[in-house]
Amino acid sequence: MKQKRIGEVLRERYGCKVYKLSLDAGFTCPNRDGSKGIGGCIFCSQGGSGEFAEKGVDIKEQLERAKKRIEQKNKGGKYIAYFQAFTNTYGPVERLRELYLAAMEPKEIVELSIATRPDCLSEEIVALLAELNQIKPITIELGLQTIHEATAAYIRRGYPLSVFEDGVRRLKAAGLAVVVHMILGLPGESERQMLETARYIGESGAEGIKIQLLHVLQGTDLAKDYAAGKFRCLSFEEYASLLEKCLALLPEEMVIHRLTGDGAKKDLIAPLWSADKKRVLNELRKRLES
Ligand code: SF4
Repeated sequence: MKQKRIGEVLRERYGCKVYKLSLDAGFTCPNRDGSKGIGGCIFCSQGGSGEFAEKGVDIKEQLERAKKRIEQKNKGGKYIAYFQAFTNTYGPVERLRELYLAAMEPKEIVELSIATRPDCLSEEIVALLAELNQIKPITIELGLQTIHEATAAYIRRGYPLSVFEDGVRRLKAAGLAVVVHMILGLPGESERQMLETARYIGESGAEGIKIQLLHVLQGTDLAKDYAAGKFRCLSFEEYASLLEKCLALLPEEMVIHRLTGDGAKKDLIAPLWSADKKRVLNELRKRLES
């Protein structure tokens, strides 16, 4: 694999391992509250893809609790505050300012990572992010998943590719780092289409990519289509081979933030081989190194 992984990049930047602390700041998502849709993206879990974060707890307290859980591994270490659950720029600018500043305050928090949608990045919000980026580096994560409009409609992403392009352009112009999520194995997509998405992200101007395996989770509409036999999930072999091909298309300077998905094990319906994340990552690493 010619690209660097994020762990390596952070180690070079800070001289130690840097852990991400997942937060749930109590946001919802325009794809769930009715402004864009009510059901959410077809694969999205009840936790808004943020199962590792704690609900209803003050941000500083969440950071403290998350730190405590890994303190043994990371005594005196550094962290990234990760606004993960739902859409983390979906709120009034003053509220966002308060939350981000609270997360930035502890000295051991070296960066902020904010997961959101490109249609929730008003000029005011981008200006706020640019301002706070001067205090501590901020990375914006955008869930693109695919560049193909038919698949985007099926998964109910709720915005066209042009909105993503505009969002990335404005974030880059404001000096912010961008990481893009893509999913391999979306129903109906051919290998060629998935590789087209990877190539597009590689050329989009984003610094990083998260490549995820499509997971079917309990309680999602995707689970209904899976139960009805409308699609099947990728095997490990298929996923590994697609991943290799995607990585070959991505530029060397693109940072790899994820090589597979991260769904909550208790809710996983398929593919079951992905449940043992450690083993899967080891196998993928071995394969990519060889
Ligand atoms: S935009 Fe994100 S939080 Fe909202 S429904 Fe889709 S995956 Fe879930």
